[in-house]
Amino acid sequence: MQSIRGTKDILPQEIHGWHIVEDRIRYITSLYGYRELRNPIMEYTEVFKRAVGEDTDIVGKEMYTFPDRGGDSITLRPEATAAVVRSAIQHNLTAQQQIARVYYSGPFFRYERPQKGRQRQFHQFGCELLGASSPEADIEILTLAHDFLESLGIKSRELHINTLATPEIRQLFKQELISYFTAHLSDLSEESQSRLQSNPLRILDSKHPGDKALSANAPRMQDMLDTESKDHFSKVLSHLNSLSIPYTVNPLLVRGLDYYSHTVFEFTSTALGAQDALGGGGRYDHLFEHFGGKHTPSIGFAFGIERLLLAMSAQESISEAPKPEIYVIGFESEESRRAVISCAHALRTLSGKQVIVDVQNRSLKAQMKEADKLGVKQVVIIGPEEALHDTCIVKDLSTGMQHTKSMTELHNMFS
Ligand code: AMP
Repeated sequence: MQSIRGTKDILPQEIHGWHIVEDRIRYITSLYGYRELRNPIMEYTEVFKRAVGEDTDIVGKEMYTFPDRGGDSITLRPEATAAVVRSAIQHNLTAQQQIARVYYSGPFFRYERPQKGRQRQFHQFGCELLGASSPEADIEILTLAHDFLESLGIKSRELHINTLATPEIRQLFKQELISYFTAHLSDLSEESQSRLQSNPLRILDSKHPGDKALSANAPRMQDMLDTESKDHFSKVLSHLNSLSIPYTVNPLLVRGLDYYSHTVFEFTSTALGAQDALGGGGRYDHLFEHFGGKHTPSIGFAFGIERLLLAMSAQESISEAPKPEIYVIGFESEESRRAVISCAHALRTLSGKQVIVDVQNRSLKAQMKEADKLGVKQVVIIGPEEALHDTCIVKDLSTGMQHTKSMTELHNMFS
């Protein structure tokens, strides 16, 4: 029996990196006043269809969708924002302050072709700032994301940023793109030809060389911006400048989902290979109305945790997992083994340190060897003699020094 293609067991020897990322998630979000929202991993399919858009890759090709036993269409969540908005409306999360700051982290599911940095079950950490339309809200989200990557020590990264303006401008821009690409139809890739009417923006971030060449000369959103969109975007950029956060304005950055407007952004890393996006996000000012909620302009981002770990390990910034500190050794007599169990129990409680004992009835030599292999700092030996006299031998493995102690002295040493 094997795990499902595109899913991975995260093994004990890999978990330390995950814990580092999870600690940083808790720490950085707490600095900004974001609280965790834990949504179910499945939703009614309609939630994603309505928010993400029927013409996107996610909804069109990648969702794990199935009828449940009652006949409802259920989908394993492929992304979080749609579910966050569904739940913010259902529980009126923005009622008190008119805004809500939330974060999430957990598994997501997309039926994609697995490769390095791309799985069918993967994990995301994301933040959403619900209810604020100002450029300052965009900056809060961008600096939070920036600080998070800094705190993980991910150096090989770039921030790409663009504006998708208002839905009205985007509609006009789509028409311009359709006219432009229609004039060059035969040079477009098959995939882009099929997207031309439904989602022409996506042609701009196609990786196909022919599409790329055409996109380089395609009409630019920048040339069509209204005053509001221009002002909003230039304020965001000027805040980034003041904070000395480096960025590149990338007019071809459109992001895959239908719901974005104004600021969109992506963090990439050269350490990742073909799937080079660490994460991204953007402003979604009209998604709440789409769900029948009231106007709640919002912005958020999501990072792929597997990709963060790939970038961290490429530059060797994952620290070593903590080693056990004490190994309590007993051997031969029943009294000795009994004393080991109560001593280890007391030491864990008194010192809060990781204490290991043998559970296979092995010899003194075998246990010493294991303690050495584990990189333990100190061993406490309670042989049959020591057990009789309520004493022990404490040996420091780095210096080789050892002393006999009473049990009371040992407890005092570690409390
Ligand atoms: P998206 O909202 O689709 O841009 O996803 C945000 C981030 O999640 C991406 O930049 C990736 O880091 C990560 N991600 C998305 N899909 C996958 C996947 N299939 N496998 C691994 N990570 C993914």
